[in-house]
Parts: sequence; C-alpha cells; structure tokens
Amino acid sequence: MPPRRKQELPERAGPELLARVEDFRGQALARKVIEAYLQRGRMAGTILLLGERGLGKTTLASLIARSLVCERNREQHAGQRFWFCGECYACSSIASGNQPEYVTVRPRGQDITVTQVREEFDGFSSALLHPSVLSHRIFIFDDAHHLNEETGNQLLKLLEEAPERTVFIMVSDRPGMLLPTIHSRGQKIRLSPMSAAELRAALLQDEPQAGGDAVAEAVRMSAGRYVDARWLLLNRDWREAVKRLAAVLGGGRGELAASARPLADMELARLWDKELSDSGLSEEDAAKLIPAARRNTLARLALGLAYDRAAWWALTQQPLRRGILDALAEMKTRVSQNCDPELAQAALSVRLGI
Ligand SMILES: [Zn+2]
Repeated sequence: MPPRRKQELPERAGPELLARVEDFRGQALARKVIEAYLQRGRMAGTILLLGERGLGKTTLASLIARSLVCERNREQHAGQRFWFCGECYACSSIASGNQPEYVTVRPRGQDITVTQVREEFDGFSSALLHPSVLSHRIFIFDDAHHLNEETGNQLLKLLEEAPERTVFIMVSDRPGMLLPTIHSRGQKIRLSPMSAAELRAALLQDEPQAGGDAVAEAVRMSAGRYVDARWLLLNRDWREAVKRLAAVLGGGRGELAASARPLADMELARLWDKELSDSGLSEEDAAKLIPAARRNTLARLALGLAYDRAAWWALTQQPLRRGILDALAEMKTRVSQNCDPELAQAALSVRLGI
C-alpha cells in the first residue's frame, strides 16, 4: 500500500461552479422542457426536479434559477430563454454565494426541520414578501424528501397562498418519499441516466487529459450518471476502492468492514471538507465547534455512500448476486436511520451470507 496522503479533492461540478447553461451535459429532453416553459413564461411556482442520484439535478436547479432571475435574459431574447449572462448583479451575486433572495436548503441531519429553516433563513415568512433585489425569490430544496412533516406543512401553507414572485425548486432522487401534497402540486421535470456513448463523449470533452481506459471504466461504473462518472474519473483511488468493496459484496469473499473502510474514509474526507467550506471555520476550530453528534452523522452518511457506490459497480457486473441491490438499499437506510454502522454491517453480512 502506498503511504496515505492527504485526500486531494477534485473540483466538483457543483451548482456554483457551472458558469454557463451550455456546460451542462446530457438531459436533452429535460433541457427542452425547461426551455419551452421559460420561453412561454409558463415556469410554475413549484418545480420538482426528479431522477436518480448523480444526474446533475442540483446543478440544473441552479441553472434554472439563474435563468429566471438574470437581468439580461429578457432584454437579450425578447422573452426568457434557458440562459443567463453570468455578469449582471443577479448572476454575480448568486455565483458569489452572497444573495439573500436565493436560498439553498440541504438536510443537515436526518430531516429538514423547522428549526433548521428558521436558523438558516429566518423561516418561511420571507417567502411571502416580494423580492427586493431579484425578479424572483428562489428557494432550492436539495433532497426535498427529507422535509419532515412539520416543515412540509409550513411549506404547503405557503404554496397554497402561492406568493407570486417566489419560486420553489424541489430536488429529489426519491419522489416516492416526497410529501404527497408537494409531489402532486409541482411541475415535474425528470432526468434520466445518459447512454454510455453520450456519457463517454461528455467525459472526453470535459476531461480531455484523462486516458481512454479510465474514461471507459468511469462510464461502466457510473450507470449513466454524469456527476459520479466525472468524480470517479478524476479519482483513481475511489475507483479502486469501489471495485474492492463491490468484489467483496458480489463475490462473498473477504472482510466486508475492512473493504468498506477505505472508501468510507474517502467519503468522510469529502463530507468533512464540504462541512468546513460551508461553515467557514478553520479545520482546528471546526474540530472544536462542530459537535460529536454531527461528526457521527457524517461518518454514517459516508458509510452509506460507500455502499451506494459499490452498488453501482455491482450493477454493471454479471452475473449479479440475487438480492444484492435490495440488501444494499436496506443497509443504506439502516445506516441513515441512525442504526449503529457495525450492526447494520453485520445484518448485511447475514443477509448476503458472507
Ligand atoms: Zn445575468
């Protein structure tokens, strides 16, 4: 084993980083739908972006929002297009992360709670006010299926009153878990996995320095998900760790926990890095100020993600052991529901007979 070096984290194609709509890959159908809604001025007050993890839903949410509020969009196109300039006050203030009328909410723990909503943007009361600096007030709910009932009910009351210039964009990879009233109310835009050829072409275009073999492997491992394919392409260590874990899960050999650990560690490093950049704290201060409970949540999330990544790779392997995907899904749920990770792993081992 080479000596462990500090995890180098590649730039992730996050919503803030994509400078132009043209840089978004794949999802031609969804983009056509969005373009048509914007051109006809038919974009609803509640938009649901649905589809598997790793397809770029959150990125797309930010592109839609910026197209809606860009000050030059209407001027330049005699109507709205799926486009934004990137330079006007609206575009640049959103890109700098410093725009109070553009809010992104992500679950901090198990649920998106009323307390979180109150702490992060002073509750939903602002949603009833006309925006004062942007043309629309934007709320993006990432993983919106984590809205708990109380938060969901507050939000629903708001949606019923339908504030005219407030737009809610709900992003979810589990539409079945969305509160039914939110699900039935929103304008749905669905994303689907890219074909292997399309994904390969996109990766070669965006990462021209990557070798053909690495691209081919990232395509095989990512089941048509661009965000994940790019991530795996840029991280050889991750690809190897995912493969090791998948081999154990698929073949029933070796130590499950030992194989999961390197991948979970890498996921944890990434989550921790994100936590640091979100909190604006130094690593030293964060270690002191971020409570142990939060760190445990991150560790559990990392383990769940490790199994999730192994599941994609297992998906591409034939023959697939019966029940492995169900077992992995159950494992992920158990881990995210605060079950002790070691107990969850033991349950998975029993279920898979390894
Ligand atoms: Zn603009």
